[in-house]
Amino acid sequence: MSDPSSRETVLKTSMVYVCGECLHENEMRPKDPIRCRECGYRIMYKKRTRRLVVFDAR
Ligand SMILES: [Zn+2]
Repeated sequence: MSDPSSRETVLKTSMVYVCGECLHENEMRPKDPIRCRECGYRIMYKKRTRRLVVFDAR
């Protein structure tokens, strides 16, 4: 089955974050842990809003 609406849902729920350390762009969903896949850094910028998002994952 190829339902275009389900694909649109994925696009709407996923966000692109830019790593504050290496500036690698990480696309992730709300359930995914906020962490750079390149260097493991946990401070990410939301690419759309440019607001700093800090996650203290202790
Ligand atoms: Zn990084």
